[in-house]
Amino acid sequence: MSIHRPLELTCNLCRARQTVTVWETVNVMLDPEMKDVVLEQRVNMFACEGCGEPLFVDINFLYNDMEKRFCVRYVSKSEMGNPDSYSQFKKDGSLSLAGPAREMAEASGGGYMFHPHCVFSMREVAAYVLFRDLCEEYGQ
Ligand SMILES: [Zn+2]
Repeated sequence: MSIHRPLELTCNLCRARQTVTVWETVNVMLDPEMKDVVLEQRVNMFACEGCGEPLFVDINFLYNDMEKRFCVRYVSKSEMGNPDSYSQFKKDGSLSLAGPAREMAEASGGGYMFHPHCVFSMREVAAYVLFRDLCEEYGQ
């Protein structure tokens, strides 16, 4: 499942209000066109409709590749600095999924979902996706 939603933004420079579509999760099997958006680091990045200034919406983002069985989790700055957000993690950095999320992960053979590759910039998300492509092509 991919998850995206509309979000109203106000530009810090020109104060223009606009509604953009932010992505929280990309399942690249269902939305293959989003892979290029990820590789080009354009996820949750917008040009202000008023002044053209780049606007980045800093929210958590999960890239899920069910075929290659890996996921990359971008940890936003607000999650990184919020002690409450760590209740979803175990001490070893893996995720402690509960409820429907756990059932979904287990039912789909998605044990890898409990061990996301956590990164701290969208650039790293892109780099890791590319790294896994290269492993797929040249690895043993
Ligand atoms: Zn603006």
